[in-house]
Amino acid sequence: MSKILVQKFGGTSVGDPERIKRVAARIKSYYEKGYQLVVVVSAMGHTTDELVDLAGKIAKNPPKREMDMLLSTGEQISIALLAMALHDIEIPALSFTGGQVNIVTDGNFSNARIESIDTKRLIAELDKKQVCIVAGFQGIDENQNITTLGRGGSDTTAVALAAALKAKECEIYTDVDGVYTTDPNKVEGARKLNQISYDEMLELASLGAGVLHSRAVEFAKKYGVVIHVKSSFNHNEGTKVVSENEIMEKITVTGVTLKSDDARMTVADIPDKPGIAAEIFGALADKKINIDVIVQSSSRPAGSTGKDRHNTIAFTLPIAAIGEAKSVIETLTKKWGAGSISTDENIAIVSAVGIGMKSHTGVAASMFKALADNNINIEMISTSEIKISCVIAKDRGKDALRLVHAVFGLDKTA
Ligand code: ADP
Ligand code: ASP
Ligand code: MG
Repeated sequence: MSKILVQKFGGTSVGDPERIKRVAARIKSYYEKGYQLVVVVSAMGHTTDELVDLAGKIAKNPPKREMDMLLSTGEQISIALLAMALHDIEIPALSFTGGQVNIVTDGNFSNARIESIDTKRLIAELDKKQVCIVAGFQGIDENQNITTLGRGGSDTTAVALAAALKAKECEIYTDVDGVYTTDPNKVEGARKLNQISYDEMLELASLGAGVLHSRAVEFAKKYGVVIHVKSSFNHNEGTKVVSENEIMEKITVTGVTLKSDDARMTVADIPDKPGIAAEIFGALADKKINIDVIVQSSSRPAGSTGKDRHNTIAFTLPIAAIGEAKSVIETLTKKWGAGSISTDENIAIVSAVGIGMKSHTGVAASMFKALADNNINIEMISTSEIKISCVIAKDRGKDALRLVHAVFGLDKTA
């Protein structure tokens, strides 16, 4: 069994000098148990948000390369401070940027993907009994540009390192005790899960459960890395993210999420013929815009022939991507000589996720009924083998989250 353990500490966990010292003390206790430690840290507290605001005061549309250069500095502060805190308690430690430990990514600034990690340097230092502290959320592309992995991306740095080093486990220390049935800061009755499968966690992370970066879960699934989410403020047992066949009890609904930073874009009056949807979603994919729910409806007046048939396609996308998506689709509507685009930011997506859905019927009906009984209108629906998502009005989002959480018996107060 590998003696390498990867531990990641999030922004709140290293939010001030006292907390950094507490993290150092925890690392020391593992070091003294004989583990070889690779520690990934995020920027302190809200540093990354503050850097984003700072850039906004300088330029309306800062170059993405410079934005990554700026944002990567947050993590550089915390790795150096943590290394100092460890030295202070007589634990040998070295801090490294992503580039220094060869975390090579593609050149997609602000949302780069890790392509390879060369672990030679890390292994050499681990063998010399150093604790290796690595800046999360950053890498370097083939042209030596600093890149960042997308907000929340330090989780992905940690899991990717755990995979590359064939570590025993990847521990993600955060400000809650583990993965809950829903965000414990939004629903009081949320319960902590002891374990969850990669597929469920991936759906939850993509649908708004901010506790893990979805790409970290993708990596973990692909390379079989066990993720252990724990609190950095206590020693409680956390949540293990593992493969489905290790899950004893296949609960119908494991978790519920609410996503409030998506909008709906509706493209109306477009030709009803093969290839139109492929053009729209192909163009959006080329821009790497993430689409969640898609609904198409066609109007076919009686006796109509192909030519006078029109379609409407509506889909959800991140609010931040509206501008780019609009300009991409405008190019298409101009080409077709048809179509109009409208957007609605007043939506939220509530989703229920569980591997037990594969073998249970009536799950969607229960969710729809809970919403209907409380007069919440469902505007769009999307399902997969293990999830159901409903688009609803944004101002009913919190109610919907609470209701769906309760209807599946997830509330601990129920
Ligand atoms: P870190 O800075 O440690 O990476 P994050 O803020 O990224 O921390 O993630 C932890 C937060 O995720 C929690 O404070 C909680 O509000 C939120 N969260 C959302 N959904 C869940 C969930 N299902 N289980 C636990 N936490 C969740
Ligand atoms: N500091 C980055 C962020 O705030 C990365 C992370 O914390 O995971 O998004
Ligand atoms: Mg996070």
